[in-house]
Amino acid sequence: MFDKDVIMLQIAASKMDPNHFLMLVLLRFELFDIFNDNCSSKDQEVLKQWNRLTEEMLYLIIIIAGERYVPGISHVTKEDVTMREVIHLLCIEPMAHSSLVKSLPENESHETGLETVISKVAIFKKPGVSGHGLYELKKECLEEFNPFFYHYSRPQHSKAEEAQKKRRTQEGSDKALRPPVPPPFCPAFSNIVYLLCCDIFIHILKRIFQKAAEDRSNRWTEPMIQRALHLVGQALLEEKTQLEGSSTEEVTFDFSLKAQKTGSRHGKSLFHFLTKMKSLPSLKAQNDMIMWNLQMFEVVKCLREKSGPVASFSVDHSKLEESVQDKEKAERKRKAEAAKAHRQKIMAQMSAMQKNFIESNKMLYDNVPESSSQSDTAASVDSFRMDVDESRVAVGPQQGVCSTDWEAQICILCQEEQEVQAQAPAMVLTACVQRSTVLTQNRGKTLSPKVGTYPLFMPPDLAVGTHTGSCGHVMHATCWQKYFEAVQNTTRNRLHADLIIDLENGEYMCPLCKSLCNTVIPLIPVEPSKLNYESAEIVGQHLTLERWIQIMSCRIRGLRGTWETDNNSEKAADEATALFDESQAEFRSILSFGVQESCHSQIVLCSIIHVNDFSLSLDNMLQEEGKPLFGSLQNRQLSGLKALVQFSAAQRLKSSQAVIQKHFADMLAVLVPVPNVENTPSILEVDFFHLLVGLDLSIPALYQEAAVDLQPSAVSSAYNHLYLLHLLTMAHMLQVLLASHDCAVIGGRGEGDEAQAAAELFSIVSQHTDRLRAGVTGFCVEGVKRGVLPFLRCAALFFNCLTGVPPPEELSGTTESPESQLHLLCSYLSLPSNLFQLFQDHRDVVTTLIKRWCENTAISKALKGEMQIIRYPHKRNRLIDLPEDYSVLLNQASHFKCPNSSDDERKHPTLCLLCGVMLCAQSPCCQEQLNGEEVGACTAHAAICGAGVGMFLRVRECEIVLMASKTRGSPYPAPYLDDYGETDPQLGRGNPLHLCPERYRKLLHMWQQHCVLEEIARSLEVLNVMFPFEWQML
Ligand SMILES: [Zn+2]
Ligand SMILES: [Zn+2]
Ligand SMILES: [Zn+2]
Ligand SMILES: [Zn+2]
Repeated sequence: MFDKDVIMLQIAASKMDPNHFLMLVLLRFELFDIFNDNCSSKDQEVLKQWNRLTEEMLYLIIIIAGERYVPGISHVTKEDVTMREVIHLLCIEPMAHSSLVKSLPENESHETGLETVISKVAIFKKPGVSGHGLYELKKECLEEFNPFFYHYSRPQHSKAEEAQKKRRTQEGSDKALRPPVPPPFCPAFSNIVYLLCCDIFIHILKRIFQKAAEDRSNRWTEPMIQRALHLVGQALLEEKTQLEGSSTEEVTFDFSLKAQKTGSRHGKSLFHFLTKMKSLPSLKAQNDMIMWNLQMFEVVKCLREKSGPVASFSVDHSKLEESVQDKEKAERKRKAEAAKAHRQKIMAQMSAMQKNFIESNKMLYDNVPESSSQSDTAASVDSFRMDVDESRVAVGPQQGVCSTDWEAQICILCQEEQEVQAQAPAMVLTACVQRSTVLTQNRGKTLSPKVGTYPLFMPPDLAVGTHTGSCGHVMHATCWQKYFEAVQNTTRNRLHADLIIDLENGEYMCPLCKSLCNTVIPLIPVEPSKLNYESAEIVGQHLTLERWIQIMSCRIRGLRGTWETDNNSEKAADEATALFDESQAEFRSILSFGVQESCHSQIVLCSIIHVNDFSLSLDNMLQEEGKPLFGSLQNRQLSGLKALVQFSAAQRLKSSQAVIQKHFADMLAVLVPVPNVENTPSILEVDFFHLLVGLDLSIPALYQEAAVDLQPSAVSSAYNHLYLLHLLTMAHMLQVLLASHDCAVIGGRGEGDEAQAAAELFSIVSQHTDRLRAGVTGFCVEGVKRGVLPFLRCAALFFNCLTGVPPPEELSGTTESPESQLHLLCSYLSLPSNLFQLFQDHRDVVTTLIKRWCENTAISKALKGEMQIIRYPHKRNRLIDLPEDYSVLLNQASHFKCPNSSDDERKHPTLCLLCGVMLCAQSPCCQEQLNGEEVGACTAHAAICGAGVGMFLRVRECEIVLMASKTRGSPYPAPYLDDYGETDPQLGRGNPLHLCPERYRKLLHMWQQHCVLEEIARSLEVLNVMFPFEWQML
């Protein structure tokens, strides 16, 4: 019904006799005969129809008498009208600004008037990291709620009713949705109210209530009763308002009197039926409303009976109303308290019983500690090891006892529990391997053009790494194999499945949590080292670092012979590939992702790189969030790393020893002179953590002969770890030192062991380099320590996974300062806490080594500024800074000129969030060739900038686009919100937009934690694409 129709009806009702008006209404609804008792039918359909018509008619009367929010009909302003609309919208549910605007009618100039009223009726609730800002109705506005508000659609009506009933129940009040008190009519319309007390009106209601009270079920419906009750309420409210306004004699509105008198002689008055309905079980849902109406009768009766000053009435009867409500409230409270007391009693009984049980079975409980202490004494036989256990050292002859092994794992597919043991069925861990540039210190550096040679040395800029993630779910290898094949077969037939998962690359969804995976890592049991501490000590007295280096070079020289007989390592590499393919076909997909096919020969190296990047990015993430090294790592992250380290450690057994031995020699040559190895990079050109892992995992290969399978003893392993770490730490310190540019003079703080050792080191270094760096006279001890810290953190993670020795508990705490953290890390890694002490401990060897390190031609080049130097600690990569005000970006975009074309066509400027470059997307002018395929500017850029992963902001559309691999992408809301806490996709609303830092941080984390691919897969799964977007053309 249109608003103007309502006004027309109201005009008619105000001019006519109310009885006459209602008679005409009855006729129009063809209900006249029904209410006149001249008509009866047994036909269910006809009865249903009559009921429907009655409902409609009652609704119409509610509207005519109640809807007064039109300027001229009552004394309301336009603002009041808008306010009422907003209140009723918010009574349905809290709403966002945009949906409010959409639901409100607009005036001639397309304004809704929302701004002027919204703050009066609602409270703004700020949005979280997702979702949008919401307006919530103020409490005091709730009483304006009219369940029969005429602008509600049918679903809105039932939603609002439900919401308000729910709210009232939560507040502990009754469920009666009373009609609100409407504003009084203007004098010209004041006659309308007499509709609510004319004889026909009373008659209609009486008939309806009668049918209900006599419970003739096909003659009445619940909505009918609900509306009739609403009308009674409206009438009583009107009477009450009039009685309050003037003295009893002047009031001609007499609904309550008529309702009680008419037909009372036969016990058939409206009031009588209403009272009867109270006890009807079929009207239980309306009971609260009936009760409220009966109370209102009381109130009006009191008002009529009492004489005297009007003011006192209103106080009195509102008190009366309150007192009735209070009674009900008190009743509810009493019940709740009784229930609570009952609960407490039961709890007390339970605990008493428990105590009794413990008392009576005291003997049993006392025995428990005794038996365990007996086993303790047994354990304390080798108590000499106890202090070693507690020392928590992961490296070297003091190495503690391995405490963590894989606990029994439950296969998520067959639900069977399985120990991780050498002889048991193999278990695998889900994993997702992807390329990453999160750690790069040199964004945009193109990948090495030499396809086919995976670099032996990771350059210190970490330009492109490989990230391995895992959701931490474990399966039997055989169960996984079956699942994987089944998934491959079923997905192949799905529409656009290739957009969600890349079957060719072996992708699949984790069967339990649906996260995207593309490989598995086998779980390999941790081998606890059985170190004999006494013999380790004896060995230590003779095996100095110098001796160790000599032994290593001898060993390598000895092995060189075997390599020569192997002709070339190329052949050995082929063997390795063959071996790998045969023995571990089910794990083939691991580590092959993101690495060229020909790299299989260097698979060990690759897995080492994986370990590196995994721990590096873990550490990066932790530092970003300011979390402690251990303790805050999620279990799945640590177990993923552990699985990877153990797998890599075991992998060497499966590969050609000669290849690994050669690699070891090449890597070691960076640190110490190794015979016959040339062209080794200088210490400024390698990443030392990568080198540490590479050397550490490949050193056991030195012990193997072609025919005999030998393993290094526990003691020699310990010393290998120790000396490698010592050498690498020293070289890394020198690297940090040479790379630092803010060399402050130590000057006055010359005392203390640390400063002294540092000064000594500097004097040695300057002998070899001061000619190159004139003017630099000292260096910052703190700077070096800061620079070395990330290396030590990663090393600690690595050794924790390799040896299984638990780290000192303090490292799990959050309160550690960098200073004390360094101290703890050093003790865990068996390094002196004064790192400069290392150079003094190994003085005789190190002096010559420093000379060798510094005299590399690359270093003099670098120091002259002819080569880029990476500074330490590495800078942490973040997304670019976005302006607070979105119009800045729009402005920037409007000045954007495509580099390749000059036509005036509208372009799609798109901002790379990783590096900040503005690209010309979706346009043929800027397409590029990528691996022989025509792709859009964004895809081409993402391949270089993010190793295939891209995060772009489409400026004109105000939308983020996530990209991963060439064909997959998904839109994502931009981190810009308007004042109402909402995003504005496509800039359709045009409100000023401001950056939401929390949301931007969420995007940053998504990128840092390598969740972009995951997010895309998830959103595509939800969208269920029908018409795939050609992401590669973006
Ligand atoms: Zn299984
Ligand atoms: Zn999972
Ligand atoms: Zn970029
Ligand atoms: Zn272009």
